[in-house]
Amino acid sequence: MNHYDLIVLGAGPAGVSAAMMASAKGLCVALFDENTAAGGQVYRAPILPDAKMDGAEFRAGETLRDALARSNVRLFLGHTLWAVTGDYRVDALGPGGSISCTTTLLLVATGTTERVVPFEGWTLPGVIGLAAATILLKSQRTLPGKTTLVAGCGPLLMAVAGQTLKAGGDVKAIVDIASRGEWLGTASALLTRPAIFKQSLSYGLPILRARTPLYSRHTLVKVSAHGDQLLAELAPCDASARPISGQTKKILVDCVAVGHGLTPSTDITRLLHAKHHYCREAGGWIAQTDANGQTSRERLFVAGDAAGIRGAAAAIEQGKQVGLACVGIILGHAGPEPAAENFSQAWQHAARFGQRMAAMMALREGHVESIPPATVVCRCEDVTRAEIEQACEAGAHDVNQLKAWTRCGMGPCQGRTCGDIAAELLAAKQGVSRESVGIFSPRTPLRPLTISEMTGDYDYSDIPIPKAAPL
Ligand SMILES: Cc1cc2nc3c(=O)[nH]c(=O)nc-3n(C[C@H](O)[C@H](O)[C@H](O)COP(=O)(O)OP(=O)(O)OC[C@H]3O[C@@H](n4cnc5c(N)ncnc54)[C@H](O)[C@@H]3O)c2cc1C
Repeated sequence: MNHYDLIVLGAGPAGVSAAMMASAKGLCVALFDENTAAGGQVYRAPILPDAKMDGAEFRAGETLRDALARSNVRLFLGHTLWAVTGDYRVDALGPGGSISCTTTLLLVATGTTERVVPFEGWTLPGVIGLAAATILLKSQRTLPGKTTLVAGCGPLLMAVAGQTLKAGGDVKAIVDIASRGEWLGTASALLTRPAIFKQSLSYGLPILRARTPLYSRHTLVKVSAHGDQLLAELAPCDASARPISGQTKKILVDCVAVGHGLTPSTDITRLLHAKHHYCREAGGWIAQTDANGQTSRERLFVAGDAAGIRGAAAAIEQGKQVGLACVGIILGHAGPEPAAENFSQAWQHAARFGQRMAAMMALREGHVESIPPATVVCRCEDVTRAEIEQACEAGAHDVNQLKAWTRCGMGPCQGRTCGDIAAELLAAKQGVSRESVGIFSPRTPLRPLTISEMTGDYDYSDIPIPKAAPL
């Protein structure tokens, strides 16, 4: 089994920066990602290697991939992590089967999961996440639909609408929970980030040119099948995203792309029992860290959106800082390297902007309150809001009791989709904080895999049979 100084989990902007920094300073580094190309969500590569795309994000992704290819980082792309143990052994499933490696230091840079607050019809075919729409557009170079309704909140809303229009799609409307005033409030922060400002214009201009209707302070309340299309119903809402009844509007489309923010991926840091706390503005539960990204567990680090939603620019700077801290530990440097201070400042600067964006994507309490009782919350196990609240009335006071009683969060996604909403419903029903109701305990395997993928090829005669104990 190979041993590394540092294993980095996740080849997004945070993981790649950390891995390249540590490798350039002499560490033996391995980098894992389930995608076959590095770049993470924001710099995602097209699935066809020769496909070229316009735009700053694609160019930044190509630059990052070229630099990584020239580095000494040992790449395990196309490898899905399914287990990480307390002695820092990493198991990942790749094209050749499952492999295992060990490491002295472990950095978790596994990014985020998209949140969708359930509404009637959210599980229908054709209703997809905003983040999923960005994958279709960037990776598959496919339009989400001939006609698309884009709904939800946060910067991905405008990114998906803009990218769809640029790719030749027809966006029938943008339905935004935020008010125009909320967006104006981010303008001063946006002006401090010229590259992001330019990027925003590249999304905003096609929307203006196409005169796409923008319904600010509106929310999607229902989607129903209408022949082979979808009928989306929207309603005005208040600042906490509670719909104001009696004024719905209906729009017929092929696809509804909807997203209500991102939550940090903490399954690995939780599996390793690092301490976590709940921070609504950072997207939800996050690991407690020191200034260098080290968690409460020695030699376990976290960086990028997995440490709290702050966006790609902050992820890059934080990755460099954490990479450098790892170098200090392995090479036994007495104090922090001089460059660490610069990365730390650049990270703080980028994070301030990311914080404004993350605040727009934070879960709004009226939104969860308005989920209809019969609506499915856990789509793997078909558990409705009413069933979650019945379990609560019967005495399920934390999410793991809820999971045991209803199977909510017990399906293949392990609660990544429903966990945030189920916990919010439980906390609201009991009138307690999110900390009080806890978070689903992660379990191995972190991603579904078959027994034969886990064990590899073996013959029964290869299984060592222990000698019988003396009587
Ligand atoms: C689906 C999606 C689409 C997004 N699209 C955009 C966008 O278009 N524009 C934008 O500005 N922001 C986008 N974001 C937000 C963006 O992800 C972040 O701001 C930024 O990329 C954070 O960088 P990161 O390195 O922390 O994480 P990420 O870029 O998310 O990278 C994390 C990496 O970890 C890998 N990973 C996670 N779990 C495993 C596992 N078990 N095994 C192997 N690999 C794993 C993932 O494949 C991913 O490559 C998107 C987020 C999501 C969830």
